[in-house]
Amino acid sequence: KLVGVPVSIKDNICVNDTELVNTCGSRILGGYKSPYNATVVEKLLSEDALIIGTTNMDEFAMGSSTENSAFGATRNPWNNDLVPGGSSGGAAVSVISNMALLALGSDTGGSVRQPASMCGVTGVKPTYGTVSRYGLVAYGSSLDQIGIFAKRASDCKYALSVINGYDLNESTSLNVQLSEKPFKNFSSLRICVPEEYVNSKSADLEVIESVKETANLLSDQGALVENQSLDFLKYVIPTYYVLAFAEASSNLGRFDGIRYGNRNQIDTNLKSLYKFSRKEGFGQEVKRRIMLGTFVLSSGYFDQYYGKALKVRAYMEKRVSQLFEKYDYILGPVSPFPAFKLGEKTEDPLAMYLSDICSVLANLTRTPAISIPGRPTKNGLPIGIQLMARRFEDNHLLSTASAIQELTDYHLMQPF
Ligand code: GLN
Repeated sequence: KLVGVPVSIKDNICVNDTELVNTCGSRILGGYKSPYNATVVEKLLSEDALIIGTTNMDEFAMGSSTENSAFGATRNPWNNDLVPGGSSGGAAVSVISNMALLALGSDTGGSVRQPASMCGVTGVKPTYGTVSRYGLVAYGSSLDQIGIFAKRASDCKYALSVINGYDLNESTSLNVQLSEKPFKNFSSLRICVPEEYVNSKSADLEVIESVKETANLLSDQGALVENQSLDFLKYVIPTYYVLAFAEASSNLGRFDGIRYGNRNQIDTNLKSLYKFSRKEGFGQEVKRRIMLGTFVLSSGYFDQYYGKALKVRAYMEKRVSQLFEKYDYILGPVSPFPAFKLGEKTEDPLAMYLSDICSVLANLTRTPAISIPGRPTKNGLPIGIQLMARRFEDNHLLSTASAIQELTDYHLMQPF
């Protein structure tokens, strides 16, 4: 199915190749060579894809700009002073700059869709559990999902048919077939546009205009498009970040200087080996998240933070599934703003976290979501439009996105 197709792989997806290393953008894994292939990599290779390299990322997928890599930032091909988005910035750049036809990334809170949005490519996060995470280095295990970048939604759909499926090696992998419900026409679609997205004071006007243009296009084609207020959207960022940090602090416990990568042995006792290996190996953002994650999981605070966040997440899942009884899709922006300047948000972690305000809901509710290029800014910067769908309706989502791409050509724009 993929003979001769050049594919790039995000640096946190294991590739067993003499030429490649898997660092997760971290010094602690500098030079690390994986002894095995991730399931998705095996699946690509079994269809004769060409793995051309691993791509730069925010350290352990923590970030929204690809500036948190220990190996330097990735730049946006549309304007080299801007970030490409993150954490899968390298993956998005590999596709828009025509190095790869397909790229695999990981999306815990938006890391496929947000860089796709900022680089002007299509990026999809499938339903949680439908693509194996075996061989994906864990960040927030209940949120992480491998996703696909390509120029066209139809290519993402084709690639998804290769990489999805049940995997015995992965305990959260679901033995469920993706729905084959065909896309008929736009007039059978019911679409919800949350008022919080289009009336947002913190989103760029040009982003809102671009979302409205897509909403109008869909309604001109006969779809029912309605605005609805979703009051719970104001809780998505705190809920996501409590859960993601907690899971990250636990997952990153394995990087202890013994089992993988960097080891510091200046002292002979075990505790200082752990301490100095981690101190030297992890960057600032990763350390911040490990500390906050450890805090929200600590006894006395667990119920107040982690337990509470789990309840809010369950509530959101209920609300979103009720919404999907009435609507086929939730439409909105991927990111409240287009690509921003390198360094602009690095000193202000909260501002950086707010980049994910429109993308994390799909991870919290385990639903599939896509970013497709919409009308760009007047300066020509890409803007991504997000569609979220019911669980397991990934193929329908991709067919709808592809039908939109038959009507518009924003996905064909090139930076050079
Ligand atoms: N920007 C979000 C974070 O930093 C999402 C990252 C991701 O999806 N891997 O957690």
